[in-house]
Amino acid sequence: MSAAALTRDLIVTHTRALKMPGVARVFESLARQARDAHWPHEDYLQEVLSAEQASRHESVIRQRLREARFPEVKTLDTFDFSASEGVSATQMHALARGEWVTAPENLIFAGPIGTGKTHLAIALGVEATKQKRRVLFARAADLVRQLLEARDARELTRLQQRLLRVDVLVIDELGFVPFDRVGGELLFNLITDRYERRATVVTTNLTFAEWVTVFAGDEKLTTALLDRLAHHATVITTKGKSYRMRKRRGAGS
Ligand code: ADP
Ligand code: MG
Repeated sequence: MSAAALTRDLIVTHTRALKMPGVARVFESLARQARDAHWPHEDYLQEVLSAEQASRHESVIRQRLREARFPEVKTLDTFDFSASEGVSATQMHALARGEWVTAPENLIFAGPIGTGKTHLAIALGVEATKQKRRVLFARAADLVRQLLEARDARELTRLQQRLLRVDVLVIDELGFVPFDRVGGELLFNLITDRYERRATVVTTNLTFAEWVTVFAGDEKLTTALLDRLAHHATVITTKGKSYRMRKRRGAGS
């Protein structure tokens, strides 16, 4: 084996031991460039290290995206603002900057089915993952079921703690399935725990006046929950007809 090949193998071994995949990927091509352009050694080292840093940054973001468990990845790019009433592109792009996550503030998307609520909630969640935020997407009914199951398995505290570590919790489709009293209380506790500590996004087809129907008719609990959720919240009301239905009709005519 040539000395150069031996050195190369040693470098690869080091990158594995040190967990530096970015270095492993670039060190050879950068070395060629450095030789051709007569870079100082420090410049070469700087380029190699910055490639490693970029690679780590990307890998954290990929992991955040996986952990968020979005049912589909939706982005603001693919949202047709001209086809949607009640949603401002300026407002959404401002929210994409993520100050509401830092604050933290809540977002409530309310409106009829098919008007882009879930799409926008996911898109802003994706933006948050790009800022390395921990995001979790869950349908309201699934979240309540998980809380109930954890309670029965005496693992409620652990689940609650895990949910509290999430910077952005997206609770989708509140209102599709009503909860029983215990389920409603568990969701209430979750939202109370997150109040002023973490950001929460809710999508719902209900008006605020109708929320009580989801919480087994419990006026007191619903009022207290809305109070916390809406206190530091931006409410976005989507309007109009279902986007898919309109697309279909548009295609047919
Ligand atoms: P909702 O959650 O309000 O019921 P969704 O966000 O699930 O509605 O939207 C239904 C489908 O239509 C999704 O595939 C979504 O990507 C798409 N959609 C809705 N509104 C728009 C829009 N304005 N531009 C692009 N796609 C849209
Ligand atoms: Mg939806």
